[in-house]
Amino acid sequence: MRRASGLIHALFLPALLAAQDGRQVTDKALRDAGQTAGEWLTHGRDYAETRFSPLNSINAGNVKRLGLAWSFDMETTRGLEATPLVAEGVIYATGSWSVVYALDARTGEQRWRWDPEVDRAYGRRACCDVVNRGVALFDGKVFAGIIDGRLAALDAATGQPLWQVQTTDRSQPYTITGAPRVVKGKVIIGNGGAEYGVRGYVSAYEAATGKLAWRFYTVPGDPSKPFESPAMERAAKTWTGEWWKGGGGGTPWDSFAYDPAADLLYVGTGNGAPWDRNLRSPQGGDNLYLSSILALRPDSGELVWHYQTTPGDSWDYTAVQQMILADIEIGGKRRQVLMQAPKNGFFYVLDRRTGELLSADPFVKVTWATKVDMATGRPVETREARYEQGMQLLWPGPSGGHNWHSMSYHPRTGLVYIPAQEEPFPYLRDPNFTRRKEAWNLGIANAVLAIDEPPPGSPAFLLAWDPVARKERWRVPYKTIANGGTLATAGGLVFQGTADGRFIAYDAAKGEKLWEVSLGTGVMAAPITYQLGGRQYVSVLAGWGGAQSLVVGNNATGAYKAPGRLWTFTLDSGKPVVPVKGQQRPALTAIDGTPDPAQVKKGLEFYGANCAVCHGLAASSGGSIADLRYSAPSVLQDYRGIVLEGDYVKLGMPSFKGMLTAEEVDAIRAFVLSQRAKLLKASASRR
Ligand code: CA
Repeated sequence: MRRASGLIHALFLPALLAAQDGRQVTDKALRDAGQTAGEWLTHGRDYAETRFSPLNSINAGNVKRLGLAWSFDMETTRGLEATPLVAEGVIYATGSWSVVYALDARTGEQRWRWDPEVDRAYGRRACCDVVNRGVALFDGKVFAGIIDGRLAALDAATGQPLWQVQTTDRSQPYTITGAPRVVKGKVIIGNGGAEYGVRGYVSAYEAATGKLAWRFYTVPGDPSKPFESPAMERAAKTWTGEWWKGGGGGTPWDSFAYDPAADLLYVGTGNGAPWDRNLRSPQGGDNLYLSSILALRPDSGELVWHYQTTPGDSWDYTAVQQMILADIEIGGKRRQVLMQAPKNGFFYVLDRRTGELLSADPFVKVTWATKVDMATGRPVETREARYEQGMQLLWPGPSGGHNWHSMSYHPRTGLVYIPAQEEPFPYLRDPNFTRRKEAWNLGIANAVLAIDEPPPGSPAFLLAWDPVARKERWRVPYKTIANGGTLATAGGLVFQGTADGRFIAYDAAKGEKLWEVSLGTGVMAAPITYQLGGRQYVSVLAGWGGAQSLVVGNNATGAYKAPGRLWTFTLDSGKPVVPVKGQQRPALTAIDGTPDPAQVKKGLEFYGANCAVCHGLAASSGGSIADLRYSAPSVLQDYRGIVLEGDYVKLGMPSFKGMLTAEEVDAIRAFVLSQRAKLLKASASRR
């Protein structure tokens, strides 16, 4: 009854008020976004980030009749991760290189497009492709974070920039990939870069002017300088050594939520820099506020409470994964909770007013800790967790039991729909760690990336998790990791795209598959739904790329450089869905001579440290960025020019001048050629 009454409230009362008044996105509209049935005004649909829509025209009974309404070419073959927003009949989406699009939500016709013209050399600082997760709307403006650290305010009607600010120090390898949120007239924006070595923070800018209102650092800086806040002074007591020299990490690169009644802004923080705590804080310590959930005052940035999911992180266990706010009944009491399924594999339920831990249960295979001690709120680590005695294969790995791919919460089923995955990682310390400017500084031995066979994909599943019973209700297994985010609707549906290029609707209660189409390229982003002129639409971005290129090793669809599109579906459209096609890989011709084995071995190391993150482990492309084994003769002749002189920088290939020597580039080339020879041999034996 409890859940049903909440649903009726959401369905009927404010939806009627807000259906067609055509007003701008005001502070009140954002607070009421959960009840505004027809639109999708903020990243997680509402401040509670539930990704639950009260729309039910498309439902379990008729979803089989879904067809194509329209689709739009996103002008990229690289990763698409955005959640589009919809207001006043316009859909706003972002593509690669932080390009912003405004389209007619009914037809897909372009209203405007704004390209921030990012210097392509900046791509070297993108740990996980030049992706963007979407915009924020407020007061006639569209706010977008740019990969190079800018925050821009655009006129929602024309796309003209109204103001732009640089939110980061351009001499440091910061990036922005996350969507801003607007709370009480302030634009909230975080940053990324912990893999390279930066100090994380979240900033609030006045929406009207772009003036900085406040900034909250997530980790302490050099203690010989004044602390920026009392919170930093407390945090510094949990660090040892000279952590600030490596930045410390804690970058809040994705997740925020807001509770207007409690007036608390929730911020999820990232992993430590470098990963291995021994290199960051050699005498131990919890290293606040890494891998934490922070509750801040949105007016001042003052810290009210924190909960650290992974004290002394050594595994890239970020807590930037989505936080969902809900009111649920636990032990006979109605509790106002915050729920998160961070990378570390435990599903947390906290009292969102106080930060009190209510439950923490493993939702995937977890081997770094046996449980979370409810008395202390701390994980009980296993003996092998900190890989003190050599290489340790641990679950989850840095991809997490759940990553940025959005989950959703359905108030009627009471279930949280999590894109979950079980991929282990062989953690191994780097005994020779030296910090390199502008490079990944993990403190993890290169050996784990320097491999000459791509690893097989690990399994994943759509998990329906009951946060009250603290257990799984159902799951749908997949063959590939890194599947898309989820959307739950009052039509009794859960929508999700997959790494192998499908877009699927499930029955929200039972997990039964009700509808499926193939889009031709992997889906990572989360779907949305909206209604215009009495007609309900479902939209999702499909475009493979991102960190998956490294992790999965191979694109699950097999498509190579497939074009990304924004797809929109509606009932009885009569239009078929034609999946996109990838490009033909260039012909694989034999190369004269055999690369020197010693040079190949050396090249494998340098490839692992510098190239694998984009071009794929073992030189096997993830499908979105060039497969180097197929390089044309002109590329093979110009390796030094391309890698060191930036000959292909306009195509998105940054220069590695100052990071690699000419001899090291030659070694990388030798390794890639040896992988090409392997491929030639394999294709010859198949004939
Ligand atoms: Ca990370």
